[in-house]
Amino acid sequence: MIRIENLVKRYGKKYALDSISLDISKGEVIGFLGPNGAGKSTTMNIITGYLSATSGNVYIDGIDLLSDPQTVKTMIGYLPEQPPLYVDMTVREYLNFVFDLKKCTYSRKKHIDEICSVVKIADVQNRVIRNLSKGYKQRVGIAQALVGNPPIIIFDEPTVGLDPKEIIEIRSLIRKLGEKHTVILSTHILSEVQVVCDRIIIIDSGRIIADKPTEELARVAGTNKKYNVKISGPLREVLSMLKEHPGVKSAEATGENDNGTYTFILETDANTDIRRSLFSALTEYNWPMMGLEEINASLEDIFISIVDSKYESEKSSEGTRASWDDADEEI
Ligand code: ADP
Ligand code: MG
Repeated sequence: MIRIENLVKRYGKKYALDSISLDISKGEVIGFLGPNGAGKSTTMNIITGYLSATSGNVYIDGIDLLSDPQTVKTMIGYLPEQPPLYVDMTVREYLNFVFDLKKCTYSRKKHIDEICSVVKIADVQNRVIRNLSKGYKQRVGIAQALVGNPPIIIFDEPTVGLDPKEIIEIRSLIRKLGEKHTVILSTHILSEVQVVCDRIIIIDSGRIIADKPTEELARVAGTNKKYNVKISGPLREVLSMLKEHPGVKSAEATGENDNGTYTFILETDANTDIRRSLFSALTEYNWPMMGLEEINASLEDIFISIVDSKYESEKSSEGTRASWDDADEEI
């Protein structure tokens, strides 16, 4: 559905994209994950025809973007980082405007009604966009991407700046859209791609450093569970007890909070839940547990595991490239 070959974008001497290649099949929900400045927006802006590449090719459903940008644009709905909203229009006026802009041939009222109901903005459609909350503005941005019912939808950091409730709603909306469309979503938040996407492509400094199904990547990153636990008791004894506790692979003290309460980082394997047994054990010693928090694997953890495993596999295959760099197959 989307094929990118050796895409390069250079600004002066700086490579924003340093030869990116990937293949996305129909119906996939893809997460572009990477820190700020990695090249996510640049990639998306090139795929959607808003930015030209320095070199490389983009094919959408077999059509070369450069040879037929008009057709390609009708196949992609795009929500850029800054949604192109006309804030003085009402929602309905704006969607009608986009409908004309995209030269849609659907029955206008029915099509826009349907979109409003899918993204849940029917109740605000006569309000001026400027006065809507950030969450609603983002829904209107998603609605404009859906006008014309494009088979591919691309969202650039769709949950940035939203409150937690809005984030959950927008994520579940994107998941729902993924049932009928090919979706690419960019984010710098690991948990976001984990809950929404089938496949995760990690970009760093303009290169793809991992491209894997979500579960596989979670496995790379999640062989261990980590906890942050606060315990009130004698530091040395508590630490040696923690190290002996069944299921604990490592324990270290990271600091003293209040007088006599220490923070420890515990690592256990992913299948063991030590919370109950630890609580009972500490009660027996009369060392109160003041807090316990599971630490989620961060983007940095994933980077480290990937770089480590890449290094390992490069070592074992004597210089051949790691599996996630496998060359694309022919169309
Ligand atoms: P992301 O969306 O992953 O945060 P971007 O694609 O926006 O990253 O940017 C990738 C890199 O390209 C960054 O280092 C950024 O500074 C650089 N860049 C983007 N746009 C320009 C520009 N117009 N001129 C110079 N450098 C740019
Ligand atoms: Mg960006």
